[in-house]
Amino acid sequence: MKVMKFGGTSVGRPKRMHQVAELVVGQSEPVLLVLSALSGTTNALVEIGNHLLTGRRDAATYCIAQLEAHYHQFVEELVQSKEILEQGRQIIQEHFELLSVICRISYSEALSKDILAQGELLSTKLFCLYLQERGIKHQFLLALDFMRIDAHDEPQIEAIRERLMPLLDQQKDCKLFVTQGYICRNAKGEVDNLKRGGSDYTASLLAAAVPATVCEIWTDIDGMHNNDPRIVDQTRPVEQLSFEEAAELAYFGAKILHPASIWPAQQAHVPVKLLNTMQPDAQGTLIADEARGVGVKAVAAKDNIWAIRIKSSRMLLAYGFLRRVFEVFEKYRTPIDMVTTSEVAVSLTIDSDQYLTEILEELRQFGSVEVDADQTIVSVVGQGIAKENGVLQQLFKAIGDIPVRMVSHGGSPHNISLLVAADRKKELLQQLNRGLFGL
Ligand code: ASP
Ligand code: MG
Repeated sequence: MKVMKFGGTSVGRPKRMHQVAELVVGQSEPVLLVLSALSGTTNALVEIGNHLLTGRRDAATYCIAQLEAHYHQFVEELVQSKEILEQGRQIIQEHFELLSVICRISYSEALSKDILAQGELLSTKLFCLYLQERGIKHQFLLALDFMRIDAHDEPQIEAIRERLMPLLDQQKDCKLFVTQGYICRNAKGEVDNLKRGGSDYTASLLAAAVPATVCEIWTDIDGMHNNDPRIVDQTRPVEQLSFEEAAELAYFGAKILHPASIWPAQQAHVPVKLLNTMQPDAQGTLIADEARGVGVKAVAAKDNIWAIRIKSSRMLLAYGFLRRVFEVFEKYRTPIDMVTTSEVAVSLTIDSDQYLTEILEELRQFGSVEVDADQTIVSVVGQGIAKENGVLQQLFKAIGDIPVRMVSHGGSPHNISLLVAADRKKELLQQLNRGLFGL
C-alpha cells in the first residue's frame, strides 16, 4: 500500500480534484489517500474562530456565508448528475449548519478545533462524491477514528496503527481509501489537529503505521528546490535527499514540507517522494535513508527571527551560566534555534516574540542584553558538509561582504547556518546560488 497526500492547492479547484482522481486510480498498488482542505478554507475557518473569540458574531456569520457560497459553486463544477449534485449540497449544508450552531453557543477552545476540522471533512467527502459519480470504488475513512495525539500533542503511531489496521483489513479488496489530513483526536477524546500544515504529518504518520511502500506528498511545485524559488530566479529541484537533509531544510524554512513530517517515515524507513500535481511526470524529490551525492544540496531561509545577546563578566570562567540562561527559555516554552558563545557573551535566536518581553526581563539579571529583530537564518544543507574540506571556504567566498551576525557550524554535520538581517536575505540567497551551485 502507498500513501498519497494532496495539499490544498491540489484540490482547490474542481478541475484539480478531477486530476487527483486520475492520479490515484492509475496506481498498481492500493492507495491510502490523504487530503487537505481546499486552499483558503483553513485560513477562513481560523478567521471565523477569531471572530467568535473576540465576540464578533456578525463577522463570523458573514464569513461562514461567504465560505458556504464558495463550496456551493465548487460542487456545481465538481459533479454533473442532478442526483449527485443534490447529495453534494446536502453535505455542504450539514457542515455549514454545524458552523452556524457553533456560532450561536458560547465559544471555547475545544469548539475552535471543531470549526477547523470542517475543512478536511468537506474536501474528502466532496472528493468521494466525485469518485462515486465516476463509479470509482473507494472507502471513506474518518481520521477521527484512528488519528491520536497524547496529552503533550504528540502523535501516537502505535495507537494509530491499532485503530487503522482493522479498518483497512475489513476491506481487503479495496484499492482506494480516502481520509483527512490534519485532524485527529486528543487524549481527552476531543476533536483536535496536528497544527497548520499538518496534513503532511498525517501522511507520514500513516505511512509509518501501515507501513507503506512509499509516502507521496503532492503539491504545486516539482520537489524540494536547491534554493527558495520565490526569491531566487534560477533554482532546480533536488533529486534525492536523506531524511536528515530533508529535516534540516524543512525546519530551516523550505516551505514544501511540514518540519515534523520527516521523523515518522524516517523511523519506519518509508521513502518520501515530493511530487507536483500540475506536472505529474516530473521527477520530484526522493527522500530516503541514504544521501546520494556529496556537497551542498540546498539552502533554505527561515524568517522572523530575533537574535538575543547576553553579555556578562560573571560568565568568565564560570560554569552553570548557560544552564541558567537556557532555563529562562524553557520556562517560557520558547525553543532556541541557533547558539554561539564566547567567554563573556552568548548569542542565541528564537522564532517567536510571544514571551520576548518576559524573557528579556529575566535575562537582564545576568548582564546586559541586546535584541535584534528582523533577522533571517540561512541554512546551507548537505550530508556531512560541516566535515568536508573546502565547503567553508566556498561558503565564505559566496557570502562576500554581506554582514553575518552569527554562524553555526559543527552543531549538525549536515548544516551550516548563518544569521543575517532580513533585508540582506535576498542578496545572500542569490550569491549562494551563484557561489555554491553555479546558477
Ligand atoms: N488544512 C490545514 C492547513 O491549511 C492542514 C494542511 O493543509 O496541511 O493548515
Ligand atoms: Mg500544506
